[in-house]
Amino acid sequence: MSKRTISCDERDTLFARLRLIAGTREYLEYYHRHPERQEADDALRECGGLARLGTAGGWTIDQIKEMTARPTGRIITTLVRVLPPVRDTVSRRAAKRISRITDRLPIEPRIQALLDDSTRTIEDYAEADRRRTPAAHQVDIPPGRMSAVVKEASKFYGASLVGITRMENDLSYTHRSNGEPVSRSFAYSIVYAVEMPRELINRAPHRETLLATCNGYVDAARVGARLSGFIKSLGYKTSLNSMVKYDVPLVPLAERAGLGQRGRCHFIVTKEYGNRVRLGAVLTNLPLEADDPSDFGLHEFCRLCGKCATNCPGKAISLERTGQHEDGPAWTFDEIRCMRMWIEYATDCAICIASCPFTQGVSAEQIAAMKNRPGIMKDILREDRVRHGDRAFIQKEAPIVNWTASNRTSSLSNHLSNDQTD
Ligand code: SF4
Ligand code: SF4
Repeated sequence: MSKRTISCDERDTLFARLRLIAGTREYLEYYHRHPERQEADDALRECGGLARLGTAGGWTIDQIKEMTARPTGRIITTLVRVLPPVRDTVSRRAAKRISRITDRLPIEPRIQALLDDSTRTIEDYAEADRRRTPAAHQVDIPPGRMSAVVKEASKFYGASLVGITRMENDLSYTHRSNGEPVSRSFAYSIVYAVEMPRELINRAPHRETLLATCNGYVDAARVGARLSGFIKSLGYKTSLNSMVKYDVPLVPLAERAGLGQRGRCHFIVTKEYGNRVRLGAVLTNLPLEADDPSDFGLHEFCRLCGKCATNCPGKAISLERTGQHEDGPAWTFDEIRCMRMWIEYATDCAICIASCPFTQGVSAEQIAAMKNRPGIMKDILREDRVRHGDRAFIQKEAPIVNWTASNRTSSLSNHLSNDQTD
């Protein structure tokens, strides 16, 4: 039985790797250390990489292939390794080339207009948090009471779920994606989830899923910045983990804080929203009480279900389990195959999210009763299949992007009121 491995260096995550620009010092250094990853990562870069997502599909794969950097030749590569001035020139030129390309981007205006402010807004929250210093006086409230207050505050700021875990070294990155070492000086992590709208996720893999996920990142950043501000007002330092900067890998952290269990899909599956959530965390030394992980029987359920794997267009999630971890069965997840689909669709796909019965809603009574009871699990699966077939899917464009509707104002307000009553 193996221990589940947690990636401890953010530079190893696929997102961090795909941000590397061919020919730069960072690129060469990384693949010098990890030559086994270069070929597959280069292939993703060559078919558009993160640019396809960043432009919501405004660029075709062929356009990107034409315009993006060609891999540097062997002589240049060697010179870059040994001569710092050559290295700097290559880095400068590559960065310029990328910004020229970005300037020429066409965009898919409706989606892009709705997303344009997301990154900037998340950065603004992070910057406001950086500027804020803890109050001089530290409040002294018993950890049990303080934990309840912190959870209440998180929900007040917009979190759908929240839990607390003690920080262990294996739950922290050693380095961030930009190479900065991470200081491991916090004792607790408050981990929270924000819900993504089901009606947008159920349009996966259409463009609307990008609206759901980007909005989720903004919501998570807002909740974290406000929670961090609250804890600083109590006199304690914090580290905000939102899209700008991560000190910790969020999925294992959320699992230990009891938000849900990691499913066959490789992501956290919560009882309340399935994997239809985005995560965030605030690290702190404010004395708190940690929650226990929650085992509601998901691993056994995933063994019977497998809907995420059978629906996955990239065959990224294994159909058969490949072993046993100490905390449950092991299925493999192939991040390269998954990213290939993201690039092809120019969205973050999300079919596995829409496929999960817990995403669509399972009653609290059935969830409470299902552990070690395969009969109840089969009932849940049968009901899910009657309601959603192989998977939930809404073909029709969402009102929020359907600007050609004759009455645009009422279409948008309908969308908003549907949201409120959902
Ligand atoms: S996001 Fe799409 S390609 Fe990736 S694992 Fe889920 S279903 Fe498969
Ligand atoms: S779709 Fe089924 S197998 Fe996949 S994570 Fe959800 S419950 Fe588990």
